[in-house]
Amino acid sequence: MERFTDPLDRASGQEQAERQRILDTRKRAREAEESAIQSKDDEGRIICEECGEAIHPERLKALPHTVVCVGCQEHFEIKQRIY
Ligand SMILES: [Zn+2]
Repeated sequence: MERFTDPLDRASGQEQAERQRILDTRKRAREAEESAIQSKDDEGRIICEECGEAIHPERLKALPHTVVCVGCQEHFEIKQRIY
């Protein structure tokens, strides 16, 4: 009897490739973020490069290299998910 390729094996292979692709994308995004130059306003606050609003200090504590505010980051991530 002929043995067919297990569709589950194929699926997990594709899943792995997809996961790797997502990891690569995230790594590149993080590298780009870390090398990005932060802009500051007149008061020395770091401002979002998308909307120009001051980035919340708590966010900067968590993500010291970020150049976008929470709102724009969410926007960016939603955009990324489409591809
Ligand atoms: Zn913003």
